[in-house]
Amino acid sequence: MQTAPIPPECPTVRVEDDRTGLDIETLKRAFLDNLFYIQGKFPEIATQNDYYMALAYTVRDRLFRRWLNTAETYSKQGARTVCYLSAEFLMGPHLGNNLINLGIFDTVKQAMTELGLDLDELFEKEEEPGLGNGGLGRLAACYLDSLASLETPSIGYGIRYEFGIFDQDIKDGWQVEVTDKWLRFGNPWEVARPEWEVEVKFGGHTQAFTDEHGNYRVLWVPDKVVRGVPYDTPISGYKVNSCNTLRLWAAEATDSFDFDAFNAGDYSGAVFKKMESETISKVLYPNDNMTQGKILRLEQQFFFVSCSLQDMFRILKRQNIAIERFHEKFTIQLNDTHPTIAVAELMRLLMDEYGMEWDKAWSIVTSTFAYTNHTLLPEALERWPISLFGSMLPRHLEIIYEINRHFLDDIRIKFPDDLDRLSRMSLIDESGERYVRMAHLACVGSHAINGVAALHTKLLKQDVLHDFAEMYPEKFVNVTNGVTPRRFVALSNPRLTRLITSKIGGNWIKHLDDLRQLEKYVDDTGFCSEFRTIKHEIKQDLSNYIKGLYDINVDPNSLFDIQSKRIHEYKRQHLNALHIVTLYNRIKANPDIDITPRTFLFGGKAAPGYYMAKLIIKLINSIADVVNRDPDVRDRLKVLFMKDYSVKFAQRVYPAADLSEQISTAGKEASGTGNMKFAMNGALTIGTLDGANVEILEEVGAENFFLFGLTAEEVSQKKAAGYNPQDFYSTDPELKLVIDRISSGFFSHGDTELFKPLIDDLMYHDQYLLFADYRSYIDCQDRVGLTYRDQDLWTRMTLLNTARTGKFSSDRSIQDYIDNIWHTKPVSIDLKEYVQGGSLMDTPSGVSL
Ligand SMILES: *Cc1c(COP(=O)(O)O)cnc(C)c1O
Repeated sequence: MQTAPIPPECPTVRVEDDRTGLDIETLKRAFLDNLFYIQGKFPEIATQNDYYMALAYTVRDRLFRRWLNTAETYSKQGARTVCYLSAEFLMGPHLGNNLINLGIFDTVKQAMTELGLDLDELFEKEEEPGLGNGGLGRLAACYLDSLASLETPSIGYGIRYEFGIFDQDIKDGWQVEVTDKWLRFGNPWEVARPEWEVEVKFGGHTQAFTDEHGNYRVLWVPDKVVRGVPYDTPISGYKVNSCNTLRLWAAEATDSFDFDAFNAGDYSGAVFKKMESETISKVLYPNDNMTQGKILRLEQQFFFVSCSLQDMFRILKRQNIAIERFHEKFTIQLNDTHPTIAVAELMRLLMDEYGMEWDKAWSIVTSTFAYTNHTLLPEALERWPISLFGSMLPRHLEIIYEINRHFLDDIRIKFPDDLDRLSRMSLIDESGERYVRMAHLACVGSHAINGVAALHTKLLKQDVLHDFAEMYPEKFVNVTNGVTPRRFVALSNPRLTRLITSKIGGNWIKHLDDLRQLEKYVDDTGFCSEFRTIKHEIKQDLSNYIKGLYDINVDPNSLFDIQSKRIHEYKRQHLNALHIVTLYNRIKANPDIDITPRTFLFGGKAAPGYYMAKLIIKLINSIADVVNRDPDVRDRLKVLFMKDYSVKFAQRVYPAADLSEQISTAGKEASGTGNMKFAMNGALTIGTLDGANVEILEEVGAENFFLFGLTAEEVSQKKAAGYNPQDFYSTDPELKLVIDRISSGFFSHGDTELFKPLIDDLMYHDQYLLFADYRSYIDCQDRVGLTYRDQDLWTRMTLLNTARTGKFSSDRSIQDYIDNIWHTKPVSIDLKEYVQGGSLMDTPSGVSL
């Protein structure tokens, strides 16, 4: 046996000869070195992309010291670690965020200027990793930022999709999907770790046998094995040395060639097998809040879950921790049911690979997992047909049956003679074709179950998971979502950041509740006028950007009314459209009517297979075509659907809003996080009592929030009583005119068929109650328009929104998870040679102002 050589002592780096220093001269030197040695270019012939890459490597080098120190410290201490399992991480661009977290934003900007480069132009070169659909994936990304900032040992585990969420183009008003080739120019932020690859089995059959100790054991004989290769990305924390890891798995064939097939002359057969294995991590499913029962999707889920759990066993071994202490070393958060197969896979690994007996293994499993539910929508609840499940994961199906047997016995004991309850709660849906119910598996296999906003958790307990709440009341907790103020204020809104920091210092970026100190400036006319000026400048920037991209003039003095989020019927972008048509009709009826000028901006992708959502995009674009051209409108209304909504784009949009549209049918939006980003940046919300809107209203005060619409309770009552949308159509003339205009082909060049599916759905079903909420929405919008005319009042309200949204920092969410679910302790990372950068935005105290 070979023994590993003793590694040489790493020399201690002294500050004066540190190649990764944060001062401007060292940064410039390193940047030019990277341009030369990594990109292989002289400055004269370098492209903007070369410069971006050189800068990315310069920043990465600085992260690496922190990253390696962090990993070493965690390893030495055997620190309890949060494993955040998520099929999606919508990270957004890394460069700017890392500059903020390292505290070198202004220094690097200066360095680039001195080299004749524009930092903002370099930011534009970064291809963002769009490895998520919307809120759920973005939440995972915000949580990684907060975990690192709170110095919590953690690993994000997911899938390295070769193609992330599609790019969206708009042609003739319709959405067109374009493949997202984010890896085209290489990804400077990741490091492949092929030495830690693992194998994942699929298919085949199981064989029971008795081992040498006389124990019943099961052997899984798969018919396919795929390799998982980890790609690691450093995740910096804000103004701390902690640098955690995002570990994404790529699927590869076990051998580059199947040599048997190759030798038998079947070259293409061998290559095909390789291609097939690599398909697993090829593409992200582009559905938001909607399951697609595809085999490949289940393969993706099992693939990354098995890779991640095997990786945890590797870490245990390396740190000399006994298998029996798995749950002490790791706490695993399941981000929705997508990774829930982990419950069965951890049982399998403990029993089949490590010989543990059932009860012991089950106790470890249930001490390890916690489950976050993200939705109440029935179409989003995952279930897999037994036949599909059993042929891909035969051993896991056996384990799930066994879990179910124990579970049903527990129900019988707690609720004797309740057959209905047994069939309602069973892990197997046997009402027709048989299915595995993933949410039930998650609930049984976890010690904690959380919803993502107070209302959502309440409705979960009342409705979707009512039986589970009765069975395990102690498992249920609420953790209201949050967003990171580093990306969504400090990075995306530097003007506001400077203003706030000049008044209250910079600690708020880490302790967002400190924003409350701004309240004392509500009557300070100087401050309020600066606050207003900043919003105007940002709106002007967005107008310029829009002019460049769409050649449309939008007036920064008009009210920027923005709805940006995935397109979904429950989010009701079409209700917003009905409001636009209402205003347009008023102008047509009375061209001299006095109305508050507005710019309506939309952004968001529709799932490619979601016909209604795509028709809503077409409707908005069709309305825009008419409204923007009609001379009667006299530019008082502008409507624009902005294509290709992404994190990069979101960072431009949230800070520019006056009005944030959060108008989902009450009871349908689990939390929302866009609502938080808007409010922090000083937009007022028009919203229903849904998701986290409820808590935003509570924090900012009802007088600073535009509330309308039915409550969740009223929605259920209305539906139970037999809701008829035509009652509203026939009694509200303004609504009738809007619907008739659209039906008549007015917005579709006379085509009365185009929007018929949408209109018929509203007239005869309207399951999201647009008609029931229409009048309340329109009246509320009228109040918005009037309020906007009183600029002093409006500014006061927006300032109070910014000041009172500290609760919605993802730092608070993560602290809630730590206190109530994970029970981890922070581990601070010592980095003796750490050199502090310095500037207004970079230092907590803002001393250099
Ligand atoms: C915040 C965010 C979302 C979530 O928006 P909601 O309004 O909560 O649906 C979706 N996509 C991107 C890019 C985001 O930044």
